[in-house]
Amino acid sequence: MQHFFELSLIELQDILVKNGFEKFRAKQIFEAVYKNKIFQPQNFPSINSKLKEFVQNNFQFVSAELVGNKSSQDDTKKYLFKLQDGNFVEAVMLKAPSEDGNIRKTLCMSTQVGCASGCKFCASAMRGFIRNLTANEILSQALPFVCETISGNKRERKFEFENIVVMGMGEPLANFNNLMLALNTLNASDKFAFGARRITVSTCGLADKIKELAKIKFPFRLAISLHGATDEVRTQIMPINKKFPLKEVINSAKEFANVCGRMITLEYILIHQVNDSFEQASLLVNIAKTLHAHVNLIPYNSVEGLPWKRSDASRRKAFASILEKAGISFTLRREKGSGIDAACGQLALKKSKEE
Ligand code: SAH
Repeated sequence: MQHFFELSLIELQDILVKNGFEKFRAKQIFEAVYKNKIFQPQNFPSINSKLKEFVQNNFQFVSAELVGNKSSQDDTKKYLFKLQDGNFVEAVMLKAPSEDGNIRKTLCMSTQVGCASGCKFCASAMRGFIRNLTANEILSQALPFVCETISGNKRERKFEFENIVVMGMGEPLANFNNLMLALNTLNASDKFAFGARRITVSTCGLADKIKELAKIKFPFRLAISLHGATDEVRTQIMPINKKFPLKEVINSAKEFANVCGRMITLEYILIHQVNDSFEQASLLVNIAKTLHAHVNLIPYNSVEGLPWKRSDASRRKAFASILEKAGISFTLRREKGSGIDAACGQLALKKSKEE
């Protein structure tokens, strides 16, 4: 069966015409799916039953079934999806107040089953790499989050989140083509028309792929998981640093920022006595200055079976104050969802161990 979200309007038109349907029906179907957010062909408006049946029998919409969720007190909710081959992936919904005081929801999506990057602190890495998700499977993680809004006598179906971060299981840039297809489907004006600035992709630092993003003028936001300000510290926890040392990551990030004209975010998880020294903080300041980057300091979520611990609160504050004094734009995130295995890959890992 063909994956519906991977089709362009022209491709759908061709398929319909070849099968004896009118060309303009493709546009009606696109409107039903992308504008009205109807993912069951039997509910398409103004489409006759023969065409509904054709769409039902030939295209797949939902490629990942929502099979469970867990909530934490801080409003983080984690969702477990079962794929058709029996593998599991997870998505997370985070709620946080924005600058205007309103609560904003962010959906965190996965791009692979497992991960090949091998970061030593990460639950996704523990099960190794299984496979890339298809673009349809990436998008399917957003489908349960459609809600109906009524203003006056106008009914509208909308995604119930304002932002997307591609920071779940897997290394997005190692699944480049499917990632691009999924993001373009979200962003395209004849598809979901979800703003590019509301989507952030996070990478462990695949410098060759970051350069490619610059080449294609990637319109989405980019975050780089730094987690160490020297090769020595970074290699200890991120083996990918041997292939792409800091210098290469920084050079590719510079190229991205110059070409795409957008501020990069550097993610830095604070792990007790591993990367939380004042020396690392000062060196991180230099990197952030070179790149004009925003720094996101994240308390580490400990993972069962791994030795790493979160830096304590006073250490986190002291680390942050070095950035503050140097005038670096940064956020010191509160830990979120640690009670629900919300660290990257933890829930899906548990589930696959149980099965
Ligand atoms: N592979 C991509 C995206 C997935 S991980 C990347 O490396 O950026 C998303 C973020 O969560 C990364 O910054 C990652 O380093 C971080 N992370 C992984 N495990 C974590 C944990 N146990 N606690 C806190 N952050 C974690």
